[in-house]
Amino acid sequence: MSNLDLKPTPTVCGREAGGGPVKDLLTPRHVQLGESTVVRRLLPNLGRRMVGAWCFVDHYGPDDIADQPGMQVPPHPHMGLQTVSWLHEGEVLHRDSLGSLQTVRPYELGLMTSGRAISHSEESPRPHARHLHGAQLWVALPDAHRNTAPAFEHHPDLPVVTAPGLRATVILGALDTATSPGTTHTPLVGADLALTEGADLRLPLVPDFEYAVLAMSGRVDVDGVPVEPGSMLYLGCGRPHLPLHARTDAAVLLLGGELFDEKIVMWWNFIGRSTEDIARARADWTAGTRFGEVHGYAGDRLPAPELPALPLKPRGRER
Ligand code: MN
Repeated sequence: MSNLDLKPTPTVCGREAGGGPVKDLLTPRHVQLGESTVVRRLLPNLGRRMVGAWCFVDHYGPDDIADQPGMQVPPHPHMGLQTVSWLHEGEVLHRDSLGSLQTVRPYELGLMTSGRAISHSEESPRPHARHLHGAQLWVALPDAHRNTAPAFEHHPDLPVVTAPGLRATVILGALDTATSPGTTHTPLVGADLALTEGADLRLPLVPDFEYAVLAMSGRVDVDGVPVEPGSMLYLGCGRPHLPLHARTDAAVLLLGGELFDEKIVMWWNFIGRSTEDIARARADWTAGTRFGEVHGYAGDRLPAPELPALPLKPRGRER
């Protein structure tokens, strides 16, 4: 643990690239995941595809799964990205084609780097805790690293920084004096901010990063804007600090990073740079090559959906 230095360093971000500070409230799209889980999808969103290299944000729960299977995501492939499993309640059992078998618990980092190819499954173990509450996040790999070797990391003890009313767990990247042990390939940050009722603070930011805040629980005002659990406030860049006010005990995820300037093609569970990249990955998964095999999951692997008839268009940070 260490204490937050609340002295901001003022600089100005590239106004042309980033547009400066904004307050753009993103509402979630409800998506059915497997048979039993409904998630709230914040990224990609209408008009907003990325925050730094963060390119996919699902918030789920808290759900009462006492008499239910809970999360059951059969083996499926990934390419060109990292997945971050982040829990507030419950647990997720991760299996992958590297042979990893790991239970991820609240406030532990499960970080999977797909690189050129990996496959995995995620399930609520049996028995499991009554409640499941968490976020599933993806980080796009930059071109120079998107074909890197696949890897899985489990970091149960993440660094924590504190200030009056705040306990921040650094998931990825750095916040103040603390740096996550998780491997990153672009400058970014992911942090879980636990706020106590009445907390009023100014969180120091990196002005060159763009940021968003996803509300997980409680009632919190982010730069004066009430953000309900399951919603996300996009903040733009050019901010030396961020005002946060907790009306109740609350928790939010801070996601940020350097503007991701490459155009990417994101389809199903793959990130490539062209329709051909995606079509090849889909064909390899269907043929049972490249992505390896997940052992021990009780059920079939996920078939890939049909490719759309029109070519997939490489897209940037905004639509
Ligand atoms: Mn996955």
